[in-house]
Amino acid sequence: MEMEIVESIFDIPVQNPAEEDFSSSDLNWTKFGTPDHHDDVALIPYVRVDEFIIGECSDVKCPTRFHIERGRKRKKGSLKDYKDDEYLEYRVYWCSFGPENYGEGGDILPSRRFRLNTRNRAARPQSMRGCMCHFVVKRLYARPSVALIIYNDRRHVNESGFVCHGPLDRDAIGPGAKKIPYICNQIQQQTMSMIYLGIPEENVLQKHIEGIQRYCGSNALVNSLASQHIHKLEMIIKRSTHELDLDDQASIRMWVDRNKKSVFFYQDSSETDSFVLGIQTEWQLQQMLRFGHHSLMAADSTFGIKRLKYPLCTLLVFDSRQHALPVAWIITRSVAKLDVSKWMKALVDRVRTIEHGWKISGFLMDDAAAEIDPIRQGSVLYFFFEVNMDVFCCPVLFSLWRVRRSWLRNIVKKCNHIEVQREIFKRLGSTVYSIWGGVDSARALEELTQDFVDQTAFMQYFKDSWVPKIVEMWLETMKSLPLASQEASGAIEAYHVKLKSSLYEDSHPGSLQRVDWLVHKLTTELHSGYWLDRIADDTDSFLDVREKYIASTSWHRAFQIPDAAVTLDDKDHLFAKVVSQNDSSITRHVWNPGSEFAFCDCTWSMQGNLCKHVIKVNMVCENHQKYQPSMSFQSFKDILTSLRENPMDDSLELDLSTAWTHQVLDQIQKLVELNDASDIGNVVNNLPLKWVSKKGRTTVGIPSANLALPSSLKGSSKKGVALKNNRKRRRLSRLR
Ligand SMILES: [Zn+2]
Ligand SMILES: [Zn+2]
Repeated sequence: MEMEIVESIFDIPVQNPAEEDFSSSDLNWTKFGTPDHHDDVALIPYVRVDEFIIGECSDVKCPTRFHIERGRKRKKGSLKDYKDDEYLEYRVYWCSFGPENYGEGGDILPSRRFRLNTRNRAARPQSMRGCMCHFVVKRLYARPSVALIIYNDRRHVNESGFVCHGPLDRDAIGPGAKKIPYICNQIQQQTMSMIYLGIPEENVLQKHIEGIQRYCGSNALVNSLASQHIHKLEMIIKRSTHELDLDDQASIRMWVDRNKKSVFFYQDSSETDSFVLGIQTEWQLQQMLRFGHHSLMAADSTFGIKRLKYPLCTLLVFDSRQHALPVAWIITRSVAKLDVSKWMKALVDRVRTIEHGWKISGFLMDDAAAEIDPIRQGSVLYFFFEVNMDVFCCPVLFSLWRVRRSWLRNIVKKCNHIEVQREIFKRLGSTVYSIWGGVDSARALEELTQDFVDQTAFMQYFKDSWVPKIVEMWLETMKSLPLASQEASGAIEAYHVKLKSSLYEDSHPGSLQRVDWLVHKLTTELHSGYWLDRIADDTDSFLDVREKYIASTSWHRAFQIPDAAVTLDDKDHLFAKVVSQNDSSITRHVWNPGSEFAFCDCTWSMQGNLCKHVIKVNMVCENHQKYQPSMSFQSFKDILTSLRENPMDDSLELDLSTAWTHQVLDQIQKLVELNDASDIGNVVNNLPLKWVSKKGRTTVGIPSANLALPSSLKGSSKKGVALKNNRKRRRLSRLR
């Protein structure tokens, strides 16, 4: 029977199936359009899109996952005239067994039906099978609570029309392959990650089998084949080498050629151009989409200047636990504005081809001149700053952690007595803290150098590396840019430390000078580590991995210390004591409490790190009025105060400013659940603010439901709905 074609979207009913997860087979499909061009469509409530996707993934005939292949967003109110089916959000979800089928070299391989005679059939990647199954979800512009699903071909077939994965596809590849189920990307990645991380074989095998069983049920043969498969992977990994060619440059060229999908920018070195390699895997891209939008990004920008052939810059996003997650690596010595701008644009373009309208709210920078080698004249900071303003079009925040780290490390290295170390660090800190107080910084520094004139080694370092630029550049930067929090510093530091240990632990001088070695390390070990961390946290599996991952920042470790373990010296505020949780006979002394420049005597801190004791003590101090608020808070306060002090006449300009301020306040309220901020004057007068649920968020580890939910679900009034959806999202993140 020929189905009737519906021409108005208002004639299509919104379906709300009773099942918790539902799929296309639970919906009635309508032909919508004109007799010449029409699509199969269904309307469902927008809040149930995730449940539809879960249902679609669990199809018994073709279990799979769907990823976002493309997307577009539009602002409410941006259109004057629009059709009834115009989108507010538009996303193409594609079966993860398709659409492409890249092999080595990046060319699309012909359908496997036509390459049965090749010698090494098993070498074909097992996950990209050219599946064409995809659907579109349109959140309607005119009715944002409704989603239009367009789903023309619901079969999982390749371009030639053959079923290309799942139990119905009997035509697999290689000897005995008819019985081997295809291994989807995620299981393959999981198994490889576990091998890279040195997890015992039996655990790898168990997890591998669990994963496969999701696709084809339990089967003794499958289990024994799985064990062979893992042996094979182990051999491949053991024998794989970074050195594709003796010549590093040629080797990298080959790597780039073989890994086109993980390279977002490449510029070979020549007489006119500098070497630039930008790496981002598919998975990193999805994380950047997931955690970057409407949130912050950060750069760990000057890693390995002294030891690596080319320094490494990492772009980080903050994940659901506010840990720093690397989403792109850029290897280059060039800080020329043109080069920075080229790779940054390439990266943003890549993200926006998938999701048009993707945008970050702020960018954190950390550059410290002292770490920069003389070849790199000037500072990355300013190029970054300018380019960032052009490309990301968002505010830039400055993170103190690298400055703090450089100072602390050099103080510990170059000054002998702990009393001197503490005092110098404190004095440097108070100079930084005084940027808003109208103190003459140059003079304060002059006094500092005189007072510690006998600390010749440190003073030489300080004069050489900092004095020339400290006032005009560093202190000015800190004063003019908003400052990032200690939590952000701790997160960036945790990444930095992990990177460092992964690269320097088993390296030899020769390897550090090879770019192919660096690329190999990043894309295998480090990538696997972060991949497994996220999977463990999203799926509540790999409990020991998960635990380690949660405790990987000092901020989280600080929450393990009870308030009772901290004693403040109430009289002079000189130091605080923290009793060790493992051994109560040990007490840490934190000098200069309540400051980012607090000095703790534990080993971790003596290596230049921001230790949990300092963070904990500062958290306790925040609740005492006798201590100064943190730098980031003072910076925030300064911004608000200057906003209020701007003289204004009673003009339209004032109305505009009021409108903007209200918008900003609204966003802040949503983001940090700020209380009682209906009036800007109140905010400033009532500082310090009560940051409601800050503790709750971090001890629980996962940000409040509001932050994790898509904007559509924000403000969802029923708590139950939010909770349920949040759980759904966690499940969904497993499927993508
Ligand atoms: Zn498919
Ligand atoms: Zn400490």
